[in-house]
Amino acid sequence: MRSWQRMFVAVMRLLLKCLRLGQRRRFKLLRQVEQLWHYGNLCLRSLLYNSFTNSDVVLDSLFEPIYWLVDHVTRWFGVVFVALVIGLTSSIVAIVYICLLPLILQTYTPAWICWHLAYGHWNLIMIVFHYYMAITTSPGHPPQAKDDLSGVSICRKCIAPKPARTHHCSICNRCVLKMDHHCQAAWLNNCVGHYNHRYFFSFCLFMTMGCIYCSVSGWEMFRDAYAAIETYYQTPPPTFSFRQRAFHKSVVYLWVLCSSVALALGALTLWHAALITRGETSIERHINKKERQRLQKKGKVFRNPYSYGGWDNWKVFLGVDVPRHWLTRVLLPSPHLPHGTGLSWDLPPCVTEQRTPLLAI
Ligand SMILES: [Zn+2]
Ligand SMILES: [Zn+2]
Repeated sequence: MRSWQRMFVAVMRLLLKCLRLGQRRRFKLLRQVEQLWHYGNLCLRSLLYNSFTNSDVVLDSLFEPIYWLVDHVTRWFGVVFVALVIGLTSSIVAIVYICLLPLILQTYTPAWICWHLAYGHWNLIMIVFHYYMAITTSPGHPPQAKDDLSGVSICRKCIAPKPARTHHCSICNRCVLKMDHHCQAAWLNNCVGHYNHRYFFSFCLFMTMGCIYCSVSGWEMFRDAYAAIETYYQTPPPTFSFRQRAFHKSVVYLWVLCSSVALALGALTLWHAALITRGETSIERHINKKERQRLQKKGKVFRNPYSYGGWDNWKVFLGVDVPRHWLTRVLLPSPHLPHGTGLSWDLPPCVTEQRTPLLAI
């Protein structure tokens, strides 16, 4: 019995010893983890310390992975949109050449044939030229050498001076001179700024004009083709050949696509035309609106320092210095550069009216 009791006591002591040891080790481990946590925290804080750090920067940093994802997906979508616009435009041009042109040549009078050949090809050249220039021309960025700039503000993303009218594009991750917008809706996959704003607008304008031209001149053919398609489902069905059916469907596709694009792109073009008349970019419209309201409350009137009056704004935008430029620079494809460097905004030579010196916003 005694030996059993001794054995029991010894086992219990051993167990208690193990428990104490375990507790000590656990406390030691917890202490080590706590020390490591404090050390890591201190390291991270000292590494990330910046006197400019505030809640906005912290929020931006937290959302950085989401921005990255959105930017990359949008860039990818941009490439898809470019392929889509080239594909759709090519399909319309192919239908016109394969289906409509032979019909025009057979049935129209020589005067109408000349008009369609001349206008159609001119419009097509203007669309292709301005689209190509809009997607391949850089919008312009402030120079990297910071001494070259008399910046009016600092870009928080680039940590560099930002000239007047320049804005940071989160998709390009760069500052863009006289930035209008990053264009994906109109399928450019490029930023629209100082050097390609005219190409962007001209592309929208000529594309709208081309779509209106196709919709108006193809209206009669569309009506006939649509009526023919409706008879497909009659009993007994009319005997149309495969070629005739393909013709009917192509004409309906052409008319529906062109009239829809004419409406949507026409509205966008009108909106941009109104902005150009006022001498504003899409971004400046919001800034100027706020400024106008702010000054109105104080009983003052806001004046856009980059507006020279409706007509002169158009001349500056299109680069028309002398009357013959309306032909050579507006009605014909022209790769001329816009006025100025986009870094400072002096009075362009084509503006006759002298204004007070421009103030940068
Ligand atoms: Zn920037
Ligand atoms: Zn951009």
